[in-house]
Amino acid sequence: KKPPVRKGSMVDVPKELLAALGEIEQSFNVDGPTLQGVVKHFISELNKGLTKKGGNIPMIPGWVMDYPTGKEKGDYLAIDLGGTNLRVVLVKLSGNGTFDTTQSKYKLPKHIRTTQNRDELFSFIAQSLKDFIVETFPDGCKENLPLGFTFSYPASQTRINSGVLQRWTKGFDIPNVEGHDVVPLLKEQMDKLNLPIDIVAVINDTTGTLVASLYTDLETKMGVIFGTGVNGAYFDVVKDIEKLEGKLADDVPPESPMIINCEYGSFDNEHVSLPRNKYDVIVDEQSPRPGQQTFEKMSSGYYLGELLRLALVDLHGRGLILKDQDVTKLNEEYIMDTSFPSKIEEDPFENLENTQELLSKELGIETTVQERKLIRRISEAIGARSARLSVCGIAAICQKRGYETGHIAADGSVWKMYPNFKEKAHLGLKDIYGWTETDPAKFPIIIVDSEDGSGAGAAVIAALTEQRLKAGKS
Ligand code: BGC
Ligand code: MG
Repeated sequence: KKPPVRKGSMVDVPKELLAALGEIEQSFNVDGPTLQGVVKHFISELNKGLTKKGGNIPMIPGWVMDYPTGKEKGDYLAIDLGGTNLRVVLVKLSGNGTFDTTQSKYKLPKHIRTTQNRDELFSFIAQSLKDFIVETFPDGCKENLPLGFTFSYPASQTRINSGVLQRWTKGFDIPNVEGHDVVPLLKEQMDKLNLPIDIVAVINDTTGTLVASLYTDLETKMGVIFGTGVNGAYFDVVKDIEKLEGKLADDVPPESPMIINCEYGSFDNEHVSLPRNKYDVIVDEQSPRPGQQTFEKMSSGYYLGELLRLALVDLHGRGLILKDQDVTKLNEEYIMDTSFPSKIEEDPFENLENTQELLSKELGIETTVQERKLIRRISEAIGARSARLSVCGIAAICQKRGYETGHIAADGSVWKMYPNFKEKAHLGLKDIYGWTETDPAKFPIIIVDSEDGSGAGAAVIAALTEQRLKAGKS
């Protein structure tokens, strides 16, 4: 009788392939000291971002200047423009730290990401809002509904109800939006449909995540997104934000909190501390915005499948895998989204039948079991690097703010769905801090599932904004 195949055994993989695999794994490896170096540089860039001169990391004040108390109350609309879907959410804040939501998803037509006509995007949003309102309020609305607009791209804000897009990320590339306030662009389309809605606040998904989670959990220190893109938000204090000088009303006390949308996906665009490998360089060069979002391109969901594809194309080009296979499809940029490495890592190691089916069905390639084991190992390396790099933003903010304990509220498709991501992220934190505790549940800083930031968070922020206006605060 043959001995059972050891889980993860690569004994039957040819030597030259193993060597190539080792090289690739090494190029995705980020050990503890590397992460510590990344965190150190991260902190200096976060600080630079708060100065008048600024730096790579935008550190955008989000004009949320109150902590939620859980007592915020009322009906609010939220829209969440993500990478693949538009969500419209009706949030009923109860006033006792809980909320109810009703929502609909509208699939963004694929070409909208790069449409040449910006109005197409905003009229799609307006139309979806209309559909939602008609369905949810068949008898009409008595009063205009306040709306929080979750716009998950870097947008400069001089006040809470405006947001000037700095630059598109995550593969979006629509002309004439960068440099423009998205509120009037949306309002113009909403007015055409006579919608009974007031846009009260523009929020980032990270600020929404922070506020929504703080609404229910006072231990929350940050809101982070590990999804199509990557980013984090936290509360700073206005007196420590140099670039706010001269921009605040006189009645704002120096100790007032101010939410900061870090936009740290753009961390280390100069490659001082991030060990980019050859696939990272290609991802950057082929992107619509080369030189930008370096940290994001190495860690967020939009890029993980593409990194895997590039590694496979490389190995094929070197004659090491997929000999005699038609790789026409494999050669298409971005044909593999995050679901590829994700499904592959989930597939039991022994014979990787699901992987076989996936690659055959989607890319028209037939693989040997050895090839699939290799692909599986590369997927794991890509996922592990993503998880380990992702927590550098958390450690940097916590160290900068002196938070030694607390909850980090996380959302996003990678956080929620990518296999083993949560565990690997916590182990990354452990390596950064050198904790000896082995049970992540007992770590001083724990990453927890967030409340729905882009929905409930937008609603709570809209409520806080209305309260401030009523109180006559600026
Ligand atoms: C955007 C951020 C956003 C993050 C997560 C990034 O590409 O620049 O604004 O928070 O993705 O969605
Ligand atoms: Mg989202």
